[in-house]
Amino acid sequence: MKSISVFLIGLLFFSCEKPKNKMKMNKKIVIAHRGASAYLPEHSMESKVMAFAMNVDFIEQDLVLSKDNVPIVIHDIYLDDVTDVATKFPDRKRKDDRFYVIDFTFKELKTLQVSERFNPKTRQQVYKNRYPKGKGNFKLHSLQEEIEIIQGLNKSTGKNIGIYPEIKAPVFHQKEGKQLTEIVLKVLSDYGYITKKDNCILQCFDATELERIRVDLKSELFLVQLIEFPEDTKKLKHFSTYANGIGPWYKLILSEIIDEKHTFTSLVSDAHQLGLKVHPYTFRADQLAEFSTFKEMMQTFLIEANVDGVFTDFPDIVVNFLRE
Ligand code: CA
Repeated sequence: MKSISVFLIGLLFFSCEKPKNKMKMNKKIVIAHRGASAYLPEHSMESKVMAFAMNVDFIEQDLVLSKDNVPIVIHDIYLDDVTDVATKFPDRKRKDDRFYVIDFTFKELKTLQVSERFNPKTRQQVYKNRYPKGKGNFKLHSLQEEIEIIQGLNKSTGKNIGIYPEIKAPVFHQKEGKQLTEIVLKVLSDYGYITKKDNCILQCFDATELERIRVDLKSELFLVQLIEFPEDTKKLKHFSTYANGIGPWYKLILSEIIDEKHTFTSLVSDAHQLGLKVHPYTFRADQLAEFSTFKEMMQTFLIEANVDGVFTDFPDIVVNFLRE
């Protein structure tokens, strides 16, 4: 009898065991920006599964709440540049002519077709050579659904791929009476993402909100402060009091070109001195800006500027580059 109960307790222990998802931060990491978004519509589950198969280190989830408080994986608070909401629910736009995720229930959102990103006014797709707009049958999904796919694939493949969720527009959510951050932290905790050792990095542009996550909400997760503007690079020391890394726009790392070679601002070395990891965004082979090839761009940042990881729409190319 005793051995049976020990067996049952053992069974209970194993069935409750959290998935093994230890963080690997001792190497340069590849973050699939909105999934393998160069090849399939951004944030579609298909683009996440493709990124998983490309052996990235982390897959990104941008998060916005639905009307019924489900965290939806979508880049903006708007629906009309990545879905067919304007034809399905034409009378549900606000005074600014935009359609908001927060005005729709999860059930309604699930009826929408997700498309390659386009300009809602001109209806032209943003990246001309990417997946054709309006083709295929893609749907929006919740944070929970995406975590279950990633954790399920981690189990079935024996891999250890992490998640990299972003709290979007916290001030907008607060004005709408919504607690996006609290809801997201609860979901993360339910799925075993609680401390810095768990395979999850939480990011936000809003410094007040990210600091609140650490100080008031007492999160022990690995936190990354996103940075868009040069003036914010002066606040590194303060960021280091609550964050574990920064995610700067890549141009904030570049200084000038001398003798055809890039020189750098002190951002990466300043951050490293404060113990902060540096994960710049966004690396796109079809938007090279001042670089002549994508390889030159990767070499410049990952090797010469010595960043710790990159957000990229082309994760397969960066994974191969780092392997070589
Ligand atoms: Ca993002």
